[in-house]
Amino acid sequence: MAANKTSRSKYKRVLLKLSGEVLRNKKTGASIDPAAIAQLARRIKGLLAMKAQIAIVIGGGNIIRGATEGSGIDRLTGDHMGMLGTAINALAIKSALKQVGVEAHVQCAVKIDRLAEPVIIEKADAHLNGGRVVIFAGGTGNPFFTTDTAAALRASELDADVILKATKVDGVYSADPMKNKNAKLYKKISYAEALKKRLAIMDASAFAMCMDNGIPIIVFNFFKPGSIKKVLAGQACGTLVS
Ligand code: UDP
Repeated sequence: MAANKTSRSKYKRVLLKLSGEVLRNKKTGASIDPAAIAQLARRIKGLLAMKAQIAIVIGGGNIIRGATEGSGIDRLTGDHMGMLGTAINALAIKSALKQVGVEAHVQCAVKIDRLAEPVIIEKADAHLNGGRVVIFAGGTGNPFFTTDTAAALRASELDADVILKATKVDGVYSADPMKNKNAKLYKKISYAEALKKRLAIMDASAFAMCMDNGIPIIVFNFFKPGSIKKVLAGQACGTLVS
């Protein structure tokens, strides 16, 4: 059954973790694809219509994912550049949301005060309660972390009901589904079981924070049409880690 427009979200406050890769044009390789951001904005508008509060943590992997070998950039600077990349993405999403009539605010963990609000959780809370989208940029504001950890941190701070981790596969598998065709897709798995089986769901610090704070994670395929709506409607989609 498709999640129709009138389905109400099962989760009130949702933290959507998007990799920067969701903004990329797969054919041309362009970091920010106009069609991708426009479609993302329409999808987010659809989630608001389901009465969900939407906070987004955006990654920066489409621009730079830290220092790579041979880049001539040291680790610390690479991470700083990565954090700035997330801010570029956040501004692009904000602009695309504005074009579909959705008010969004960017809160950035590194200070860029002419461009974005600083991270003030009480303010983010008020935005979300008012039906406005909050896009968190700058990751945690610290090098040596990823935006997955930022997602776990913001979800904990905002007391989010769930983290939706957007990926390019259908959920959490027993093995890499790209390499092993016998890999089994889990519909549901506990934090403890995922740890025991060493399943790579999020990086270790992000995963530990979700587990400690009891925040469920749903891993789902971002590229399947209607997938986010389905998850919010409580229909079988992806893997629930709780
Ligand atoms: N980053 C960082 N601290 C953070 C979050 C991100 O230094 O708290 C840097 C890091 O270099 C990372 C890059 O920003 O590789 C982009 O973030 P991420 O790799 O999480 O993006 P995604 O893979 O989700 O697109």
